[in-house]
Amino acid sequence: MKIMKFGGTSVGSPERMKDVVRLVTESGEQRFVVLSAMSGTTNNLVEIADYISKNNIESALNVLTHLRHKYAKHLQTLYATDKVRKVVADYLAERFDWLRSCCAQPMTPVLEREILAQGELMSTHMVIGYMEEQGIDAVLVPAFDFMRTGQHAEPDQRHIRTALSAILEKEGQHQVYLTQGFICINKDGEIDNLQRGGSDYTACLIGAVLKAEEIQIWTDIDGMHNNDPRFVENTKPVRHISFEEAAELAYFGAKILHPTCIQPARYANVPVRLLNTLDPQAPGTLINNATEEIGVKAIAAKDNITAIKVISSRMLLASGFLARIFQVFDEHDTSIDMVTTSEVGVSLTIDDTTHLEPILDDLRKLGFVQVDTDQCIICVVGDMTAEQHGYCAQVLNALKEKPVRMICYGGSDHNVSVLVSMEQKQWALQQLSKHLFG
Ligand code: ADP
Ligand code: ASP
Ligand code: MG
Repeated sequence: MKIMKFGGTSVGSPERMKDVVRLVTESGEQRFVVLSAMSGTTNNLVEIADYISKNNIESALNVLTHLRHKYAKHLQTLYATDKVRKVVADYLAERFDWLRSCCAQPMTPVLEREILAQGELMSTHMVIGYMEEQGIDAVLVPAFDFMRTGQHAEPDQRHIRTALSAILEKEGQHQVYLTQGFICINKDGEIDNLQRGGSDYTACLIGAVLKAEEIQIWTDIDGMHNNDPRFVENTKPVRHISFEEAAELAYFGAKILHPTCIQPARYANVPVRLLNTLDPQAPGTLINNATEEIGVKAIAAKDNITAIKVISSRMLLASGFLARIFQVFDEHDTSIDMVTTSEVGVSLTIDDTTHLEPILDDLRKLGFVQVDTDQCIICVVGDMTAEQHGYCAQVLNALKEKPVRMICYGGSDHNVSVLVSMEQKQWALQQLSKHLFG
């Protein structure tokens, strides 16, 4: 079975939804389909929750009314029959009424996550209604019935596998199984999500537990480009990359993929294909476990990074110093992205600053601490084995006119990362494209 995930733009209008249904059914083969919310909806829901938390109920209601009108218009064009239109309209009315009732409640993290879940619930109900109207043998499998996270908000793959297998057995054979991306139930039984962009993660988790033939991520661009098209002109699609390369690019900011979605596909060895709903014939990008030794593949950037340097005269030859530093981050549940060391100190980066103050308090007990905020990791991915010498020099040469705060090389065979200030991000991405891709 193939998994097909469609992002926000791909289900962004009734016309696009109809295109999606055509793409899903044209082969006549069985498909497991994962849908995002219609584009813009999750952002609107974030705004609504934010306004409620600030007690700005009028603005929350304005956004809500705007959204409700937009969906009412979509229903007019999506369906041919009043019967199906009414069923879906009733469902959406229930969701919008519930959202309205939230405006009279105090905001809590649990309520906020429940608000954010509404976009995927609505888009999937709209599409399943259309499929039924078209006579397609499709069944809606609610994500809340199988998608669960456990400790540290990580997906609980064992539970997902067991629950999904049981559901599929109970449902029996259908041409299309449809579910919501992004949303899940957490270890406390509350509604939660897999973080923004999380529908990619849902698709890869389903693909991994079902040992799918392929996971297709359908979006609004023809595959992974060699640099971020939002900041660099004339970027080009990369036709093939390995799981490791894709994982590094996703983790270090390539928005086309959720930061950790590649991991389950990689461990289950299920190929992932990035495809373009706006140009379905385009070859896109294939991600699998094959590697090609052809130098630099692509560049990505991750914003809002904080760099921390700890300097200690006691570090020289002091065993356990690094362990104590890492322990501080572990105790505060904060993961580290880049690390470099010298004889007297260590520099590292984090992107989650929730516990920055207590981390700094603890680090000051170990040495002198310097903090630089608003930094950006630029990650250059490709065949970076030591034998392929010269690429690291090319990267540094491209950036020689501006300050580089950190360099990481050798942590894997696939990447060299540099830390620059966020102000230099676009410049750095453009320089690297010019020097590395000509
Ligand atoms: P979806 O809503 O389908 O999940 P996203 O907006 O999350 O789509 O991801 C697609 C977008 O990612 C593209 O429109 C593009 O602007 C952006 N993007 C950033 N880096 C890359 C890259 N290296 N290759 C392709 N797209 C990228
Ligand atoms: N709708 C969610 C978001 O906008 C999840 C997704 O689209 O992948 O982040
Ligand atoms: Mg996305």
